Amino acid sequence: MEIKQVTVIGSGLMGSGIAQVIATAGFRVNLFDSYPEALDKGKSGIEKSLARLVKAGRMKSEDQNLVMERIMFYKEMEPSLKGSQLVIEAVPEIPELKEEVFNSVEKFAEPDAVLATNTSNIRITEIAGMLKRPERLVGMHFFNPPVMMKLVEVIRGEKSSEENFQEVYNFSKKIGKEPIKVLKDTAGFVVNRISAPESLYFILLLEKKVDSPESIDAFAKSQALPMGPYELMDYVGIDTVLHSLDYYSKTLSSAYGNTTIPLKMVKEKKLGIKTGEGFYKWK
Ligand code: NAD
Repeated sequence: MEIKQVTVIGSGLMGSGIAQVIATAGFRVNLFDSYPEALDKGKSGIEKSLARLVKAGRMKSEDQNLVMERIMFYKEMEPSLKGSQLVIEAVPEIPELKEEVFNSVEKFAEPDAVLATNTSNIRITEIAGMLKRPERLVGMHFFNPPVMMKLVEVIRGEKSSEENFQEVYNFSKKIGKEPIKVLKDTAGFVVNRISAPESLYFILLLEKKVDSPESIDAFAKSQALPMGPYELMDYVGIDTVLHSLDYYSKTLSSAYGNTTIPLKMVKEKKLGIKTGEGFYKWK
């Protein structure tokens, strides 16, 4: 099977970037979001990102329009899945939501389409367990921002078919990424499994009032890191941080449940850059 058209589900931070990457590589993309304002935001995010690339001399201006023409925007899932050989799910990191989405995807996607999830942490085997045909699902974990970051973790769930796993790995290369094969399907896979204790540690420093995000970030940046840990969490989204800690508390260690700050921030809609305020004010 040759992948010519891809459906991306969820036009947020990751889904819109993934759609842009795939369209830039010359493939047709259907981008679907169930919230019309999120779809509009995704579209304008892609337009701005392409304009920045042109301004920086990293894309020809005539290519900017071609990329936009390859992306179709959908408010309904069913038509967005028609004719796609690959479906990439990028909705929030909530298992019940992923289950709801994949139930519909199984109903409406082409019967032989490969299914992929951009989950940051949830075991592929767990999500595949929600499907009637679990062998269809493979993990395709992009990093933020997808347009810049080359790495993609391609994760084989316990039931993923070898054919689909290879297909997603090959396609990741075709869109200019540097994929790695992750054969052990554990919470957080490789990269986030390594960085999970770090997120917990930096949140606990605040809970214990050791110092402010500004001071700790200043220290991190003095060590030649491009961003401090709190800036990074604002960039990732505090809701995503909270969902990840919650998942780790159930799968890795109860220690991940010992925080109060992320939940408070989500309740106050301080989700980071996407709402204009997180640990920092961004507007
Ligand atoms: P986001 O909140 O920016 O975007 C999620 C989008 O999904 C929103 O636009 C929302 O409107 C849409 N959505 C919600 N319910 C939907 C539904 N039922 N059908 C269709 N669309 C729906 O989140 P994000 O940061 O893009 O994260 C998406 C996924 O990618 C998560 O699983 C997350 O863990 C993973 N991820 C995030 C990062 C990161 O740095 N933020 C990095 C890698 C992977």
